Amino acid sequence: MKEVLIIGDGFAAAVMAAHLLRSGVASTSIAIVGPGEVGKGNAYGCDSQFFRLNIREDLPIIFSEDPLHFSSWAQENINDPHAKTDAGYFYRRQDFGRYVSGLIMRESKSSQPEHIKARVLGISGTEGFWNLELDDQSVLSAQHIIIATGNPPPTWPCEVSSPKTVKPSVELIENPWTGSALEVINPQENIILLGGGLTALDVINTLVERKHLGMIYVISPRAVLPPAQANWQRKVQPNWPQNLTPAKMIRFMRNYLPSASTASPEWQSAWEELRPNINTIWQQFSPHQKRSLFKRLGWLWNLYRFRASPQTIAAYEQLRAKNQIQFKLGRAKEIQYYQSQVKVLLANGAEVNGDRIINCTGVASDPLLRKLIEDQLAIFDPLGSGIAVDENWRVLHAPQKRWNTLRMIGPATMGSLGDVIAASAIAKQAEQLAAQISRGSFLNNL
Ligand SMILES: Cc1cc2nc3c(=O)[nH]c(=O)nc-3n(C[C@H](O)[C@H](O)[C@H](O)COP(=O)(O)OP(=O)(O)OC[C@H]3O[C@@H](n4cnc5c(N)ncnc54)[C@H](O)[C@@H]3O)c2cc1C
Repeated sequence: MKEVLIIGDGFAAAVMAAHLLRSGVASTSIAIVGPGEVGKGNAYGCDSQFFRLNIREDLPIIFSEDPLHFSSWAQENINDPHAKTDAGYFYRRQDFGRYVSGLIMRESKSSQPEHIKARVLGISGTEGFWNLELDDQSVLSAQHIIIATGNPPPTWPCEVSSPKTVKPSVELIENPWTGSALEVINPQENIILLGGGLTALDVINTLVERKHLGMIYVISPRAVLPPAQANWQRKVQPNWPQNLTPAKMIRFMRNYLPSASTASPEWQSAWEELRPNINTIWQQFSPHQKRSLFKRLGWLWNLYRFRASPQTIAAYEQLRAKNQIQFKLGRAKEIQYYQSQVKVLLANGAEVNGDRIINCTGVASDPLLRKLIEDQLAIFDPLGSGIAVDENWRVLHAPQKRWNTLRMIGPATMGSLGDVIAASAIAKQAEQLAAQISRGSFLNNL
């Protein structure tokens, strides 16, 4: 019987364990279950030296009492002459992964928490007595569970038809997050990118660094990519009105933002001044308000919340100057692959042809969370993307009913709690939950 078991072994799991250790929980009370190297996960376990953090070095705040912990570590441990830009240092994600995977060791006084190398297929049991079914056919028991399964890797958003002999990872790259699938690309190929967000920009940066010569087609509903990070600073705190409705919130934000370019430090400073209060405001909205707000503004929020590293946008600008990149507006309906050619049929009737397609459509759905819903241990969050949690990260199994010993942190809490995707937002959840656990409120809730 494990006391505190963390499911998932990525960034969220590592910062959760580091905060538990820092707040005095014994390493022997903590266990982590996941298939990879603790701390790296889907975001920072990449092999590519061309994938960069989209935030400058002072922003991944892991410990609130030591906000420059990563920045100081980076100065001593990273040799990356291309990290420096006018907007700060933007390091490689693999180097950040090295930092995160070392966090637990740096916080451990003697032994480290146990890492069980497996994937959790399902959870059964009840408050304080949970059983976890693992993919190696064994069963684990735990008193308290913290789900930190993060960002499920992308899957094709539409039908893919190809001969059975084709290895899916060769010309049809379903998951480009590690970067290794991009190494086989021939410079002459015409490449289709499905999606126009940060993953597409990672691929663009990689192609430019590898001196790509072929055309790049970006299939996306809008011909717009996230802007580059500017050197923004939070200077003032916005004076948010009381009793906000989604409409009032949008009006206030519109009036607060200057009519400057979204790539300017002035606009980004105002945007970042608005951000710290958004989660509290989001949590006050009803499920219906959350859904309609996300439907209206979700895409815009995703575009500007996630800005890209200046290096990556510079790569895109290089391609644009050479007319080597083109947007193809629409949504993919079907991908066909025959005789070494990829054809994408769009819902608007258009066709896009190329030698290779790379799926840049973002996260898929999490099988473990779906299983929890199926088994009636959890309910959907208001956006229907993750499972619902309350403000103390307790998983809900009915609209007003929560488990005290089954919690979840990380990106999948977004539908309930707001913008919890960036590294620092997740680290803040881990820090606050660890404080609750070490104060005993976690255990006393039994
Ligand atoms: C490609 C990418 C790039 C990003 N870049 C940035 C960035 O530059 N800056 C920034 O601030 N944020 C970035 N993010 C945001 C990211 O959400 C967080 O920083 C963070 O990585 C989330 O950590 P996580 O541990 O919740 O998820 P993940 O990193 O996805 O890790 C989850 C882990 O859980 C494991 N797992 C999943 N299911 C199970 C199961 N059933 N049983 C056991 N283990 C399981 C997975 O194998 C994985 O290792 C990025 C995200 C992605 C996907």
